[in-house]
Amino acid sequence: MGSEKLRQLPSVDRLLGEATVQGLVAAYGHRQTVHALRETLDAVRDEVRDGADVPEIAALVARTSVRLREHLAPTLRPVINATGVIIHTNLGRAPLSTAARAAMEAVSRGYSTLEYDLQAGRRGHRTLHAERLLCELTGAEAALVVNNNAGAVLLALTRLAQGRGVVISRGQLVEIGGGFRIPEVMAQSGAHLIEVGTTNRTHLRDYERVLKTHEDVALILRAHHSNFRIVGFTAEPTLPELVALGAEHGLPVMDDLGSGALLDTAQFGLAHEPMVQESVAAGAAVVCFSGDKLLGGPQAGIIVGQAEYVEPLKRHPLARALRADKLCLAGLQATLLHYLKDEATEQVPVWRMIATELAEIERRARRWRRALRRAGVPAEVVDGESTVGGGSLPGETLPTKLVALDVAHPDRLAATLRAADPPVVARIEEDRLVLDPRTVLPEEERELLRAVSEVMR
Ligand SMILES: *Cc1c(COP(=O)(O)O)cnc(C)c1O
Repeated sequence: MGSEKLRQLPSVDRLLGEATVQGLVAAYGHRQTVHALRETLDAVRDEVRDGADVPEIAALVARTSVRLREHLAPTLRPVINATGVIIHTNLGRAPLSTAARAAMEAVSRGYSTLEYDLQAGRRGHRTLHAERLLCELTGAEAALVVNNNAGAVLLALTRLAQGRGVVISRGQLVEIGGGFRIPEVMAQSGAHLIEVGTTNRTHLRDYERVLKTHEDVALILRAHHSNFRIVGFTAEPTLPELVALGAEHGLPVMDDLGSGALLDTAQFGLAHEPMVQESVAAGAAVVCFSGDKLLGGPQAGIIVGQAEYVEPLKRHPLARALRADKLCLAGLQATLLHYLKDEATEQVPVWRMIATELAEIERRARRWRRALRRAGVPAEVVDGESTVGGGSLPGETLPTKLVALDVAHPDRLAATLRAADPPVVARIEEDRLVLDPRTVLPEEERELLRAVSEVMR
């Protein structure tokens, strides 16, 4: 049954003769187009066997075109972040400054001085570019940039403590997102974990006791709690106290800051996030932090500290395995320059978002509400909270103004917005879909409003 009709289906060769199919070949290549034509014909054959009519050529081409577009569409693509989480790990963490993007574009277009000393006309060092700036900004003697902070911690522990003991408070044996757990990284580095104190309270005397009884300790490690907070009955020695204790025993202190701020978050009404400069000044031998958290640059792991401890890291084989690429180094250098020029709160998007005044956010929210209402979308402006994210300032929020859409099925609306082009990621709060202007870049505003208006229609 239907075999008569099946014979009416055109062959792949016949379809390739169509001008419209040649258009697909030009756009997607011969091999992909032939493959998609076969798949379309296979599917149609099944449908015809089930009693469907043989489609027109134009319909076959249209189906093939959709198939190709969906199959070859990039899956890593920009989205509009309307969640109000500034350093959103799932959405690519820090958006980059204009200068950082331009620097990355410039070195990607052709050749660069990545490992070339122009003056001498011979081989140079790739990490030099950012190191000089990092030392100037943080007061450290030496610096090194690797691929990410997990790599920085692994490299430092491996080089400084392999086969030896590392002392850390039980309250700091944290797991951050993405499977990074301090005890497991420690095991991977070959260092032995020596836990001191308790989950909520660890005193200096706990460290002292352990240092008296353990033979082969290489390092005292302090790790940022990252994305959780211990509240209530808690205690932890300060970094200067740990450094002083370490000095008594001839031991360096390593500080894994995680986010690693170069500016003081307290000036924006937030709690004080530990700053890199503070750890360096307190005498930490090695300080590690991310490039794409509060620094607001590209993905990188940054190590700063005392030359005696940082320099040997550069010569370890792991440093080669974890090395940063030219795009990262170009973007990082441009980002660091914003701090040196005291323009980070205007130029670095993460800091601009943190620093945006509530009145400014309210103005934007009202503007959105007006535009949406004009498009027939019932929108309201309500009070809300943004968060910094990126493993910094857990539990801390910034007051914001949200544009709320009161619809019957906010989850369905959220899904439709995620399917828009560009996709919009929003938040659902108290059964309403809410959009936070704080994390939406000004140049994304129009597309966001267009997407919401179209979806609500
Ligand atoms: C985020 C974080 C890391 C890992 O940094 P990545 O740059 O994501 O590799 C390590 N330690 C702490 C405390 C962190 O918060």
